Amino acid sequence: MSSLRHDAAMPHVTRAYVALGSNIGDRLALLQHGLEMIAVLAAAPDAGSLPADAALASGASSMLPSSNLRASGVYETSPVGGPGGQPAFLNAVVEVSTLLHAEELLARLMLIERQSGRVRGVLEGPRSLDLDLLLFGDQWIEKPRLHVPHPRLHQRRFVLEPLSELAPDLVHPRLHRTIGHLRAAAEREYPDQRVERLTVALRAGHRLSSR
Ligand code: ADP
Ligand code: MG
Repeated sequence: MSSLRHDAAMPHVTRAYVALGSNIGDRLALLQHGLEMIAVLAAAPDAGSLPADAALASGASSMLPSSNLRASGVYETSPVGGPGGQPAFLNAVVEVSTLLHAEELLARLMLIERQSGRVRGVLEGPRSLDLDLLLFGDQWIEKPRLHVPHPRLHQRRFVLEPLSELAPDLVHPRLHRTIGHLRAAAEREYPDQRVERLTVALRAGHRLSSR
């Protein structure tokens, strides 16, 4: 018998990894904004039904401490897939501990995308802010609008490089390989995917200023 009991009274915290990407506008500012919004919206369990501004305002009463987030370095990367000739991306990954379910977290990520001016156009086309849920604990989820682990994670160096900074030893729940292993394999398999780590950094502990 497992000694791990799930106590219904205890909130269940899941460690999730989110990929951020931008190739339009002030890419670094958009990633920074995305990170700050994730810190607030992933931490506030009651903010889901609120409009974005109100959710932001309620961030002060987050259930989880603001240290619930870690950010990778920032990478400049060549676009993978999509129409030719689109500008280079900036990419990063954040680790966030959340009380939400995966679908609630995804809904909030989509809200942040919309609020950041993203309009869905061409598949894999240019975007101001793209937020993908890469991993959600060790869960394997296959739903019409939610696939976790992200189905193309292991083929994308722009995801694996930043992710392996944060979690090299984490085991992919479906492929049963560590992220570090997948990173090295992708480096061999996709030498043409350009990924360059920049010297700029996202500020993970930054508190939102009132606007
Ligand atoms: P991509 O990021 O692959 O270029 P989009 O961001 O345009 O594609 O597509 C997002 C859509 O993919 C959403 O409608 C969402 O429901 C679906 N989706 C499925 N699984 C995930 C996931 N793990 N993370 C983000 N979006 C997902
Ligand atoms: Mg996406």
